[in-house]
Amino acid sequence: MDNEKKKERASLKINEVTTCKATAQMLEKAERDGVETAFHRAAEMKACPIGADSACCKHCAMGPCRLSSKDPYGKVGVCGATIDTIMSRNFARMVASGTAAHTDHGLSMLELFRDVVDGKIADYGIKDPLKLEDLARELGIETEGREIEAIAHDVYQDLKRTYVQLEGEIPFAKRVPEKTLETWRKQGIVPRGAMREVMELMTRTHMGMDQHYENITKQSSRTALADGWGGSMVATEISDILFGTPTPVQAEVNMGVLKADDPALLEEARAAGAKGLNLVGMCCSGAEMLGRHGIPHAGNFMSTEAVLVTGAVDAMGVDIQCIKQGLAKVAQCYGTRLFTTNTRCRIEGADHLPFEEHEPRVCTDTIVRLAIDRFKNRKLPLEIPRFKSIGVHGFSHEYINYMLGGTFRGSYRPLNDNIINGRIRGVAGVVGCTNPRVKQDWVHVELVKELIKNDILVVQTGCSQVALAKAGLYLPESAYLAGPGLREVCEAVGMPPVLGLGSCVDNSRILTACAEMVRNGGLGQSIADLPVAGAAPEWMSEKAIAIGQYFVASGVYTVFGVTFPIIEETKFHQHLFGGLEELGMGKWGFTADPYEMARLMIAHIDAKRKALGLDKGRERVLVDMAARREMEAA
Ligand code: SF4
Repeated sequence: MDNEKKKERASLKINEVTTCKATAQMLEKAERDGVETAFHRAAEMKACPIGADSACCKHCAMGPCRLSSKDPYGKVGVCGATIDTIMSRNFARMVASGTAAHTDHGLSMLELFRDVVDGKIADYGIKDPLKLEDLARELGIETEGREIEAIAHDVYQDLKRTYVQLEGEIPFAKRVPEKTLETWRKQGIVPRGAMREVMELMTRTHMGMDQHYENITKQSSRTALADGWGGSMVATEISDILFGTPTPVQAEVNMGVLKADDPALLEEARAAGAKGLNLVGMCCSGAEMLGRHGIPHAGNFMSTEAVLVTGAVDAMGVDIQCIKQGLAKVAQCYGTRLFTTNTRCRIEGADHLPFEEHEPRVCTDTIVRLAIDRFKNRKLPLEIPRFKSIGVHGFSHEYINYMLGGTFRGSYRPLNDNIINGRIRGVAGVVGCTNPRVKQDWVHVELVKELIKNDILVVQTGCSQVALAKAGLYLPESAYLAGPGLREVCEAVGMPPVLGLGSCVDNSRILTACAEMVRNGGLGQSIADLPVAGAAPEWMSEKAIAIGQYFVASGVYTVFGVTFPIIEETKFHQHLFGGLEELGMGKWGFTADPYEMARLMIAHIDAKRKALGLDKGRERVLVDMAARREMEAA
């Protein structure tokens, strides 16, 4: 890096861009080493204000057209498109892209499942046959007296409809509470196959097609639901069946999980096979391995470059989604071997080593061998931050059932009861990415602390989960930070007040949990009735918009931080932030401030409690025989 650039880099105020001490330490090192990261690029590249408001359109060559954020109805595009058409089309395309990413991943998992069942892949098997049978029964597939392979084959055939069917409801519509499904049917947004929904959304957002923001949003909802209750849900269910349904596991998080090692240990490791090699995860793939296998996690999205700055990573394999192109440059600076492993995601400057499910070891063994080679030839001094936190990860919908109800009466009844009696005020999903436009991890951590302090149980996925784990909130002992009611429940069960459910496709577990809460009774008839709320405080990707829209369409109040691609007080804004709720769904919210975000979510949860008649007493009134007789007489 030239000296001029170095001077500019020095202007990055590290303590203002991250609360992660390990990342801060590595950013200081990066600056000493003259290495650029996304934090530096974000400081230099101000976000385009017109794009941030979604006030521009480049859908045809009569434009691009730019409307005014200050006077949104002052002009229209060359074709006559209004600000509401332009913003809703831009929003729809984010939903289409995010949905395509998740559903493509889900379809790949389903194809892997098919090949495992057909005996074409020897390295994997069905690890959770009980879950497979439960799922088959849920889908209406006969299991009694049948071979597991036959059941699996039928499950594959049925779930394939999630992606390819042209007409009819997707299989997991069966999982949706009846009243929620009724709302969708009334609105005409029950998804068909994801391929069809994405295709139709792209068609409708073409120049000269759908030019009514409400109608465009309808298809955005339908498409997003094909993600949440379709592609993502299949990915989660199939991953559980193939790799095992997560159960709580203790694991370490943060850059202190990296090891310097020494040649003697490596010699020993080589003599004994793979022993001695340090495998750590990052970002959402890391969150999957953390929850399923307890594999240490080195850092979330905004820490991935910083982890390479340690110099301690000999090889890094990446597959799909949320992989910064900037990693290639940082890897090059420190001699880390960077490999892309999926044909969908190649990076200029990185080596490509395809991961073939039929022969997985060809890829993984090569990466390990090249890592050992790089290890032997390490030239630069290492600097590994000492920070690491231990916590309990790996919760799943099934485990929450068991944890609360025990083996023989596993159910959400105890959760519902504790919400009804007020010990737990409500449940919040806090999920999503990290983003250099806000102080890394800070919004996640402050929001969650505020929520649990107010007796709100928090469930998490993805990078948000890792932010809270680094802050030490994944230990049962952190229940002392919770309000008295939530604390009592956590201490009785021995669980932390914050439960990690996996990676961002595993947000589908939160939908399943919501459906179970409705099914168990006492909290209303639809997901929209539940005292729950969601947030993505540091979101950044199109996938996050798709996730937000499927939660909103499912009935959940969902608050985003950082920024929102919309102009306030426009018709499209009023539709997303209120109109959808009037149609029986949820609604969007926005604030960048974690305390205001908590206030909005708590106010919504309290309003739902009030509507359910749960705002009176905090303690459950036990009904004795005299009271029961009185009720019967009345
Ligand atoms: Fe402009 Fe309309 Fe073309 Fe968009 S579609 S670029 S608003 S003319």
